[in-house]
Amino acid sequence: MSEQPTVDHFAEVVLPLAVHSTFSYLIPSDLVNDIALGKRVVVQFGPSRYYTGVVAKVHCIAPQYTTIKAILEVVDDSPIISHQQLALWKWVANYYQCGIGAVMNAALPNAFKLVSDCVLCLSGEEMNMNSLTDNEYLLIETLQIAGKQPVKQLKKMFPEFKLHRVIEGLIHKGIVVMEEELRDKVKPKTSKFISFPEQEFHAWRNEADKLTSRAPKQKEFVEDVCQLTVDEYVTLRLEKTAFMQRFDLSQAICKQLLQKGLIEEEQEEVGRIKQLDVIPQDLPKLSDDQQAALQNIKNGFSANKPVLLHGITGSGKTEVYLHLIQEVLQQNQQVLYLLPEIALTAQLVERIMKVFGNQVAVYHSRFNVQERAEIWKGLLEENSRFKVVIGARSALFLPLDSLGLIIVDEEHEGSFKQHDPSPRYHARDLAVYLAHHFKARIVLGTATPSIESYYNAEQGRYHLVELMKRFSGVALPEVQCADLSETYRKKKMQGVFSEFLIEEMKRVLDLNQQVILFQNRRGFAPVLTCKACGEAEKCSRCDVTYTYHKGINALKCHYCGEQQELELSCSQCGSADIGFKGFGTEKIEEQVRQLFPNKKIARMDLETTRGKDAYSSIIHDFSNRKVDILVGTQMLTKGLDFDHVALVGVLNADQLLNHPDFRAFERAFQLLTQVSGRAGRRNERGKVVIQTFSPFHDVIRQVMHQDYKELYRNELLHRKNFNYPPFYRLINITFKHTKRSLVDECAQGFALAIRAELGEERVLGPEYPAISMINRVYQKHLLIKFERNLSPASIKQVLNKWKTKYLQEPGFKSLKINFDVDPL
Ligand code: ADP
Ligand code: ZN
Ligand code: ZN
Repeated sequence: MSEQPTVDHFAEVVLPLAVHSTFSYLIPSDLVNDIALGKRVVVQFGPSRYYTGVVAKVHCIAPQYTTIKAILEVVDDSPIISHQQLALWKWVANYYQCGIGAVMNAALPNAFKLVSDCVLCLSGEEMNMNSLTDNEYLLIETLQIAGKQPVKQLKKMFPEFKLHRVIEGLIHKGIVVMEEELRDKVKPKTSKFISFPEQEFHAWRNEADKLTSRAPKQKEFVEDVCQLTVDEYVTLRLEKTAFMQRFDLSQAICKQLLQKGLIEEEQEEVGRIKQLDVIPQDLPKLSDDQQAALQNIKNGFSANKPVLLHGITGSGKTEVYLHLIQEVLQQNQQVLYLLPEIALTAQLVERIMKVFGNQVAVYHSRFNVQERAEIWKGLLEENSRFKVVIGARSALFLPLDSLGLIIVDEEHEGSFKQHDPSPRYHARDLAVYLAHHFKARIVLGTATPSIESYYNAEQGRYHLVELMKRFSGVALPEVQCADLSETYRKKKMQGVFSEFLIEEMKRVLDLNQQVILFQNRRGFAPVLTCKACGEAEKCSRCDVTYTYHKGINALKCHYCGEQQELELSCSQCGSADIGFKGFGTEKIEEQVRQLFPNKKIARMDLETTRGKDAYSSIIHDFSNRKVDILVGTQMLTKGLDFDHVALVGVLNADQLLNHPDFRAFERAFQLLTQVSGRAGRRNERGKVVIQTFSPFHDVIRQVMHQDYKELYRNELLHRKNFNYPPFYRLINITFKHTKRSLVDECAQGFALAIRAELGEERVLGPEYPAISMINRVYQKHLLIKFERNLSPASIKQVLNKWKTKYLQEPGFKSLKINFDVDPL
């Protein structure tokens, strides 16, 4: 017997589940050579479920328990995530106190995580049969004959297949899709375009004369066309509505012309960025101020510090970034450009692509599974063409192995923080960590720095660079207040508009300039209240008042989405005297239409911007001046660059100021400054009118004088006095359950236990948040505050110990206890 005794191999596998550890699996001997760190594998979990997991470790130490399952299949030829990325996952799991499986869920695009319940179906795309392997062909045939199938069913039908590889291949080719994906798929926005047939001009004329001799309206059209030059005839191609306008055609006439073949109609996708059409342009030349800022940023890099770029709105931060990006590309490194929200991307992507062409990839959650998986795989290729990745926070997890620079644009934005589900990470903070560990440079840019970042700069941890002039040389807009209490007293309100704001709108619109109106609320009138008993109609599942939506003439809960028909009497006392209090974007839109019936008005908020391209089409229309007045929520405030906005109106600033939150003033300042920054960017100085009941409020004054530093000093003092960040760290603990008494009991006991250990003054609560029930689930908060010089790790350890203890008690098993580290 000369055979060597065989050693068993095991793999630690990360599964996309919200659990803390990895799971051990046996590596069958025929897969030993195939397995590697960072590759995906298929494993069974529980009695009947299959998951795709990622190998985090390979070892030879047999686990204690006896029944160990074997890995069923290796999905990848080469690893899809690197050693370093795995290390990042672990760091996130540890710092933000969640399972590594939750990090995997946030990090990997869904297409990489097929589980047994996923239902597959044919996409309906045309396919080239010759490009299919035999196994792919069999699978497609099955789907054609038997219809859609869950993965586990296919697994039963084809036990001998490397099923996941086959499926991946088909998904990649666009032939097979996951059902949920198909359901969510947003149809690309298309437009109809009209042009003349491919026919010589004189031939067209002859035919047109014949065909229209007895139709005077059509004949008029032909005569108009005959005025065109040959060149114009050949090149003319307009969107249908524009075409009809140009030749003064009705729908009916247009249809007849189409039927006679005198004009042709084509459907085309609009608003998409067509990668290959762009011819890279040269970089714009920087102004002296921008040049100085660029140099100063590089000084910060040399000192190995993150750079905070404080540049006022319209100072041309983007142009400075473009120069930085170019230098990084010349060194053959990659750039990650993080944006807080997709609202911004359309304009920005266009600007960046103009310069860097198809080296640019855009990665965000509105893209479908396939597109995201493609970018991921594209990055893994050797000499990948993607050098600049623009994305929302999840782009931090992309395999960028030669990362040279991270840009965090609008670093102050709260939407960089993921609230739900875990990991509740802050993309800006994670970016700083990532840059440090990958030895990449990082710039945080904004016109209104977060207090935390500015403090870091003041303390010398970040390198501060200022850019305090607008590129155009135009001064920042003049900000004036409309004092609402006075206007109401003098009865000079028309609906929600003060006389002053209406006057300013008239002035600007008469000059053919554009107006932006900002209100931090969507819907028509937020609250339906009874004037007799004061009750407001509330959602039955959430502890929140309904919002009235005129478009659907119904009440809607903004938390769970439930809709309810409009009642004509109060549900509490039966009184019919009910009315609306407050107002949202929809109501503003309606009133503006009455005030300016001849102007074109558009609205931009969550309702009007579903679907991937909805933002870009509204922004596009406004840029092209197809819209005179744009009404919107805070989506409007984000970095948009328009040339002809002369006036910005803020309908009610008080809502922003009266928030029970230690960041309320900081946020109000940021929002008001950012929305103001949309005015008068290019030609003439713009104007901002803020309607408010408190015109003498500190924050309003700071916005009027563009005095960020005063805001900063006030806020810092406040934070110091009340033990808030950046002086203290916060961890928010949430207890959730459908039974109120359970939540109360658990939170109470938990608080008592950690008070004893961490100290009375470091634990606040437990308390119900302003909205104590969402979707019939009650929640209670406990806030932990501790000094910066205490070790966060040891505090987290204490919290975890008690969490485990509580969840082990039979009574509390079904409770959810979540940690939110550095809550916003
Ligand atoms: P910010 O992001 O700082 O608010 P932007 O980068 O949007 O400002 O710049 C404002 C406007 O000025 C943009 O339309 C931009 O194209 C223009 N601009 C800025 N810098 C330059 C430059 N160096 N050359 C040409 N145009 C510039
Ligand atoms: Zn009532
Ligand atoms: Zn609800």
